[in-house]
Amino acid sequence: MKVLVINCGSSSLKYQLIDSETESVLAKGLCERIGIDGVLTHSPAGKDKVVFNDPLPNHTVAVSNVLKQLTDSENGVIADLSEIGAVGHRVVHGGEKFASSTVITDEVIAEIDKCSDLAPLHNPANIIGINACKELMPGVPMVAVFDTAFHQTMPEEAYLYALPYEYYEKYAVRRYGFHGTSHSYVSKHAAEVLGKNIEDMKIIVCHLGNGASISAVQNGKCVETSMGLTPLEGLVMGTRCGDIDPAILEFIANKEGLNVKELLTVCNKKSGVQGISGVSSDFRDLHAAAAEGNKRARAALDVFCHRVVKYVGAYAAVMNGVDLICFTAGCGENDIDVRAQIMGSLSYLGCKLDPEKNNVRGKDAVITTADSTVTAMVIPTNEELAIARETVALV
Ligand code: AMP
Repeated sequence: MKVLVINCGSSSLKYQLIDSETESVLAKGLCERIGIDGVLTHSPAGKDKVVFNDPLPNHTVAVSNVLKQLTDSENGVIADLSEIGAVGHRVVHGGEKFASSTVITDEVIAEIDKCSDLAPLHNPANIIGINACKELMPGVPMVAVFDTAFHQTMPEEAYLYALPYEYYEKYAVRRYGFHGTSHSYVSKHAAEVLGKNIEDMKIIVCHLGNGASISAVQNGKCVETSMGLTPLEGLVMGTRCGDIDPAILEFIANKEGLNVKELLTVCNKKSGVQGISGVSSDFRDLHAAAAEGNKRARAALDVFCHRVVKYVGAYAAVMNGVDLICFTAGCGENDIDVRAQIMGSLSYLGCKLDPEKNNVRGKDAVITTADSTVTAMVIPTNEELAIARETVALV
């Protein structure tokens, strides 16, 4: 079956057409500046990418133009839209309602809408993408795959905040966690690569990208994760602060005359390694600056690695041990130095890095020595493939 995977943002739409039998990507692309002017970049497998600047006034036009390109005589990869057997949608927040992926019905759309309160920037955009596909591909089954679903197995002691309980009851304020599709895919795939049964394993997945999160996966189920009610909590990220003392907000509000909304913009967009370094949110730029003696760039890298080390220790404690640590996403898959720095602080767990094996980017690899008690691996994440698999399984 050919599955169209859609990841819809407020002004963007990423897509991949995946052949589920071969698990190959037939075409992928990105619509940007939807509602502003419009850019569609379409990359059919084995051919050069093409860029179109036709207006994209809304998501329905964007989906329509994507479908046109998929069936185009020159840039297309299918003869007819009827070849698309199903559509898989990435949906950011499933609240407590969705603990797994689900076939999309009108009732499901209404439930996703109810979760918009918890992800006001993302869920409404996801619904727009779903409705656009519904209009243009009537009758084609669609599946919602939630970023939060994998983490719904967390026990109460992991997801409850120590705030008045009524906030949980009245407003569903609790830890949800994000990047769930990635944490699920990476933990399962790593166990497969090792030829081990995930049901018998304690795995820590470090998803280190521009957004970063870490999860503890015990016997195939998520038992802890670092992101919370929103994706702001936890690790230091490209531009997000992760964990801070909440009282800092009032302190800075008084000093700088900022309101809550402005402070959260600072925490989300002007903090993280970008905020500490003043250089960049990109780890390649930070390494280059640090190599030239930029102390703040060095500090940003050190704070980032230190936070990961703290969480790995905490999650090993939560699971009473760890068998496998996985590194994934842009930095986790590619940043040899960051992995080495983190692993250098994990020798107490019996974790021994093999520097030669660690000299790897973007492919499945064990990076620890044969006698390391804890195995560490690089596992490139593939959220689109995971969404396609879930979609096929449900339709
Ligand atoms: P993601 O959000 O998973 O796409 O990851 C994006 C981030 O990965 C970028 O902001 C970079 O900081 C990081 N990254 C990508 N390639 C490399 C690389 N070769 N070395 C270090 N960091 C990288």
